[in-house]
Amino acid sequence: MNIAVVGTGYVGLVTGTCLAETGNSVICVDIDEEKVKKMQDGIVPIYEPGLEVLFERNIKQDRLHFTTDLKKAVAASQIIFLALPTPPGEDGSADLSYVLGVANELGSMIDEYKIIIDKSTVPVGTAEKVHAAVAANAKVEFDIVSNPEFLREGFAVEDFMKPDRIVIGTSSDRAIEVLDELYQPYVRQGNPIIFMDEKSAELTKYAANAFLATKITFMNEIANLCEKVGANVDMVRIGIGSDNRIGKRFLFPGIGYGGSCFPKDVQAIVRSAHESAMELNILNAVMQVNEKQKTIHVRRLKEYFGGSLKGKKIALWGLAFKPNTDDIREAPALYIIDSLINEGATVSAYDPEAMNNVKSVIGDKISYGENQYDVLKEADALVVATEWSVFRTPDFDKMRTLMNKDVIFDGRNLYDLEHIKERGFEYFSIGRP
Ligand code: NAD
Repeated sequence: MNIAVVGTGYVGLVTGTCLAETGNSVICVDIDEEKVKKMQDGIVPIYEPGLEVLFERNIKQDRLHFTTDLKKAVAASQIIFLALPTPPGEDGSADLSYVLGVANELGSMIDEYKIIIDKSTVPVGTAEKVHAAVAANAKVEFDIVSNPEFLREGFAVEDFMKPDRIVIGTSSDRAIEVLDELYQPYVRQGNPIIFMDEKSAELTKYAANAFLATKITFMNEIANLCEKVGANVDMVRIGIGSDNRIGKRFLFPGIGYGGSCFPKDVQAIVRSAHESAMELNILNAVMQVNEKQKTIHVRRLKEYFGGSLKGKKIALWGLAFKPNTDDIREAPALYIIDSLINEGATVSAYDPEAMNNVKSVIGDKISYGENQYDVLKEADALVVATEWSVFRTPDFDKMRTLMNKDVIFDGRNLYDLEHIKERGFEYFSIGRP
């Protein structure tokens, strides 16, 4: 099939590349000229494991193209995916200006039947708005489909190629037939393509992210309780996770959820509910608890250093909001940096992939290391903010020779309690004695 993907970010680029991988001809559109030029030159603009191989193969085999020319891409395609940003507006609701802006343009560009598919995370009722925006200028038939994306950064290719499920919201039999065929190669192991109405599809995405954010936050509260009562959250986690009704995943406590999706999606569903005169009380609490969790170690550091962090040098391992991505949107590490600087500390940070992105946002407010040991020189403490594999079994002896004070504040519970004590470190983690 001939496909256009409008918006070539984390979702759009993975979608476009993976759709090309099963034999479709794909044109990815973006307004960012520099990004498009990079991709035309064969450079993947984001860090996503496994993407580069597919990207290069499909460019070489002439199935994957990049352009800034929306009109050209639309003319060449039967299916048009929208993978555009939906950032939070000032009141926390999803900003639909990118999606509706493109929808406004599409009407006059289509001259035969097209299927326009919304992959962005959008509030209930957006499909209707997109339909109205396209219809205002369209002279031909078209269908609007809501097809939310569930991929996880860091596993995006795997998730797209073998999704747990595909959700398709549409009332059009014509669109169902085309999309069923398009997605068959991705569900050969029997995972379902779930067809539903547009509104239910839109809400499914928000409900899924809100549930996962709640699960993380619940565990963070239990971890904090563990500390108060002298229990070990690792044991509690294993104890509850072996119950099939609860499941083992998403039970790891930490320094709060971040990233480009959970914070904005929880806010947006709360805001949507508000507009329907309803309060989502659980999610209001989730946001509140998460906010506090992000700086838990800063409060601990302050206490540890007798009430002031002035002049302290803090080393920070991890900047990305989670491992295997260079995405720093709403990363807890950024909140930690801000709080530490406000408290008068200096910060020296290392991340395997995300340092360039951080440099472009906060520049030289902090210093950056060439590697994870670099930042430990004369550090008064180490904070671990992202669970990159490379931080899991470091050279503890080397660390001690570099650091001023042998103390670790671990936001990801990477180290064994006994082992780290034997190595001579003072160690603070989340929910463990
Ligand atoms: P992103 O910011 O990485 O990418 C968006 C891209 O759209 C950018 O490259 C931007 O330049 C481009 N763009 C903006 N306006 C444009 C226009 N008018 N025409 C063409 N391109 C334009 O965003 P993302 O992380 O890929 O997210 C996209 C959507 O998918 C959001 O709604 C997000 O909530 C949702 N989503 C994201 C993830 C994720 O893990 N990142 C997962 C599932 C769903």
